[in-house]
Amino acid sequence: MNYISTRGQMAPIGFQDAVMTGLAPDGGLLLPEQLPNVTEKLDAWSKLSYPELAFEVIRLFATDIPADDLQKLVNDSYAAFDHPEVAPSVAVGEFEILELFHGPTLAFKDVALQFLGNLFEYILEKRGGRLNILGATSGDTGSAAIHGVRGKPAINIFIMHPEGRTSPLQEKQMTSVLDDNVFNLAVDGTFDDCQNIMKTTFGDVGFKTEHSLGSVNSVNWARVLAQTVYYFYAAFKALEKTGAKTVQFSVPTGNFGDILAGYLAQRMGLPISKLILATNENDILSRFFNSGTYGMADVVSTISPSMDIQVASNFERYLYYKAGQDASKLVALMDGFKENGSLSIELNESGAVDDLFVAGRGDTAATMATIKKYHDQCGYVLDPHTAVGVYVAEQFKSADAPTICLATAHPAKFTQAIIDAIGKGVHHPTLDALADVETRCDAIANDVDAVKEYLVGHI
Ligand SMILES: *Cc1c(COP(=O)(O)O)cnc(C)c1O
Repeated sequence: MNYISTRGQMAPIGFQDAVMTGLAPDGGLLLPEQLPNVTEKLDAWSKLSYPELAFEVIRLFATDIPADDLQKLVNDSYAAFDHPEVAPSVAVGEFEILELFHGPTLAFKDVALQFLGNLFEYILEKRGGRLNILGATSGDTGSAAIHGVRGKPAINIFIMHPEGRTSPLQEKQMTSVLDDNVFNLAVDGTFDDCQNIMKTTFGDVGFKTEHSLGSVNSVNWARVLAQTVYYFYAAFKALEKTGAKTVQFSVPTGNFGDILAGYLAQRMGLPISKLILATNENDILSRFFNSGTYGMADVVSTISPSMDIQVASNFERYLYYKAGQDASKLVALMDGFKENGSLSIELNESGAVDDLFVAGRGDTAATMATIKKYHDQCGYVLDPHTAVGVYVAEQFKSADAPTICLATAHPAKFTQAIIDAIGKGVHHPTLDALADVETRCDAIANDVDAVKEYLVGHI
C-alpha cells in the first residue's frame, strides 16, 4: 500500500516512510492511495480479540512490515493496557460507552501512541539513525506520546504545551517523566500557537531533514490507522448484542483525528449509519457540518481542554475526500481558507454537508449537567470530553441503530470539573501516584526561532 499527499505534489511512498514523514513535504497530509473494501472480511473479524483485529486491520495498510513483526508490535502495544479487552464497551443508560482510556495515560490517545512509539523504534532499528519528535499538545497527546517513547534509545521527544492551559494533572503526567530523552516545553501561548510553531518548523524542510524531525501529532497516518480498529471492534459488539444492521458513533471532537478514523472505517465498509460529531464551545467543526462553512473563531478555554481547538489538523483529510480526491480542488479550498480564515462547500440536495454526519455542540453548562445526570441516574461518571459527546448524542438517538459514545478519557484526569458537577472527585491509582513526584519542564517564548534554537541545543 502506497501513500499520497492530499496536496498532490509528492510521489507515492510506502507505509514505513509515511510513518516517518508525518506531514508531507508539500504541506499536505498523507492518505493511502486507495482504501481497501473489507465488507467480505467483517464476519470473520467480528470474532477476533482486540490485538488480533488490530493486526488484521493494520496489515492491510502496513504492507512493508512482515506479518510476524507486525503481530509483535501490535501485541506489545496493547499489552500496556489495564483491561483484557483493551477497549471494552459498557451499557450506560441508552448508550454503549466505548471506554478508550485503559492505556498508561488514561486517554484514548494511548491506543494510537503506544503503537506509534513501538513502530518508530522498529523502523529505526531496521534503518538505523535517530528520530527527534516535535509535538504540540492541548493536554492528552503530549503525555500519551511521551509514554509511548520514553526510554527508547534512538528517539528524543520534545513536547510543547500551552503554559497554564492544560489541566494540572495532564501537565504532571508529562513533566513527571524524567527519562533523558523527554523534553517538556511550556509555551507562552495557546494550543493553536503551539501547533503553528510545529507546522512552521516542519514546513522548513531543510531544518526538518537536517535534524531528523518526526511528528506524533494526529497528522501522523499511523495514529489515524490505529484508531480505526476500535470502531470495528465496538461496532461488532453492539451489532451482536442488539441484532441491528448498523451503528452510530458519537465522537467528542477537537482535531478531527478520532472521528476521521470512524469515517475511514465507514468508507472501508463498516456499517455506520451516522457519525455524530460533538464539540464544546470551540465549534468550528459543528458549525461546518451544519452550514457548509468552515470559519475560524477565537479559541476559548473550557472544561474539555483537549477539544479547545479551532483549526482541526485532520480536517484536510476529510476535505480531500469531499473534493472528490482531487488535490487541485483541495489546494484551492485550503488556499482560500488561509487567505480568508474561512471556506465553504456546497450542500447536497438534503441540505447537508454529508448525510453520514450530524453535529452539535455542548457548552460548559450542558457538559456539567450531563455528567451529573449520568452519575445520578446510572452511577457512571463521564469525563467532560465524553460528556460533550453523550450530550450531543442524546439529540440524535435512533430506533434502528445502537449509539456508541466514545469515552475518550478517564474522569479522574479532570477532577475539578467532576467535583464541580457531582460534588465529589473520582480517583485512579495511576494519577494518585503523581501527587509528590519530581517534575521537569522548560518555559519558552511563543516563537518559532526560540523553539528551533532549543531543539538544536538539546539534540
Ligand atoms: C484528543 C482528545 C479529544 C479530541 O480528539 P481529536 O482526535 O483531536 O478530535 C477528545 N477527548 C479527549 C480526552 C482527547 O484527549
